[in-house]
Amino acid sequence: MKKISKHIVIIGGGPAGLMAAHQLLSFGHRVSLYEAKPSIARKFQLAGRGGLNLTHSEDLKDFATKYYENSSFFTPLLNNFTPQDLREFCHGLGQDTFVGSSGRVFPRKFKATELLREWITKLNANGLKIYTRYRWVGFDPNNNLLISNEKGEVASTSYDTAIFALGGASWPRMGSDGSWVDIFAKKNVEITPLRPANCGFETNWPAHISKKIFGHPLKNISVSLDTKYVKGEIMLSEYGLEGGAIYALSKKIREKIENTGEAQILIDLKPNHPVEKIERLLTQRNEGQSLSRFLKQELHLASPALELLKAYSSKEEFNSPGTVSRLLKSLPITLTKTRPLERAISTAGGIKFSSCNSDLMLNELPGVFVTGEMLDWEAPTGGYLLQGCFSMAVHVAKAADEYLR
Ligand SMILES: Cc1cc2nc3c(=O)[nH]c(=O)nc-3n(C[C@H](O)[C@H](O)[C@H](O)COP(=O)(O)OP(=O)(O)OC[C@H]3O[C@@H](n4cnc5c(N)ncnc54)[C@H](O)[C@@H]3O)c2cc1C
Repeated sequence: MKKISKHIVIIGGGPAGLMAAHQLLSFGHRVSLYEAKPSIARKFQLAGRGGLNLTHSEDLKDFATKYYENSSFFTPLLNNFTPQDLREFCHGLGQDTFVGSSGRVFPRKFKATELLREWITKLNANGLKIYTRYRWVGFDPNNNLLISNEKGEVASTSYDTAIFALGGASWPRMGSDGSWVDIFAKKNVEITPLRPANCGFETNWPAHISKKIFGHPLKNISVSLDTKYVKGEIMLSEYGLEGGAIYALSKKIREKIENTGEAQILIDLKPNHPVEKIERLLTQRNEGQSLSRFLKQELHLASPALELLKAYSSKEEFNSPGTVSRLLKSLPITLTKTRPLERAISTAGGIKFSSCNSDLMLNELPGVFVTGEMLDWEAPTGGYLLQGCFSMAVHVAKAADEYLR
């Protein structure tokens, strides 16, 4: 196919912007990337701090369901740039990957730093022009891009095609601050309000709860909300609950709070013990052995779990084998509020898919594409966020290339 070199401007140097640039350079285009921060991909680096979970090794059909109501949109994108393609892409940068015991995929080096360094070296070698400390601030009357430099001087930049990859609004210190919302809304682009996803929740703890439990985890527990049930870990904090099991349920919890003002979750502190067995053991315990000691010694209930149980029961309830075993299996905690978006792992809401065509070109701005977390989708943690961003970016890059032909 004949190569056509056009000038493509990408705004936002996160994983989605970088992957779009990578693809477009391979098609022979000239690509300039503008990033507001002094360095690119700060959130990607942050994501790598505790182990960069790049993607997941599960079957693609199951993988696609992680995008909830958008799973049918993501299915072809995931097929087009698969988790295996992402792994091979990393291997091509000299970064080996491995599948962890949970099926999650990580770089062998675990962090994002080296992968990013190798990637930027390659992008530079392929001719990418990266402008850091340049913030896109809007459109001029001809829909050229208004870009501000460090001194606040604004210049109009033209483009054959522009791709926006501005991210959501969690961890705004890393660069994605959601300031694009008003600019696009003024262009009649429909946007679902940005909200926290994979986030913690607040609760009104009982007044007499022991403060000692805050900062401690509840391990090997399960949490349920209505019919959804998740095994994992919870972190107890002064304001409420955080942790993997809560994040996995966060969409459902958030929606329930939005609809009814609160969400009551049930925590099973001993998911591998049937309630009847616990009750029987409690009833048969030696006379004189306190219930607290029995729960700790025989059922190996950790101190924070025991304190939680005490906080949510009266003295009589706590000393009744029937009641306490039911509470142990089904401790109700009412969550009242999401933690602030600034502290969430990811963002729900964003540009509605109905504001774009299937190539993610904006209906109101021909030649302008959007990609990554700034669109209205969400997914749980587990590598689904980054894989979603990468697969979308590949899709948009191919579409932009087609558009220019
Ligand atoms: C603590 C934490 C841990 C995470 N861990 C994982 C994980 O292990 N696995 C996983 O899959 N996901 C993880 N994520 C989520 C993942 O990092 C994001 O989904 C992903 O970075 C989104 O990519 P993006 O390119 O769409 O946006 P971003 O990464 O947010 O990039 C957007 C870029 O645009 C720039 N920008 C914004 N506005 C402007 C402007 N006006 N002009 C110029 N530039 C601008 C920003 O500075 C930023 O660099 C984690 C997130 C957090 C916060």
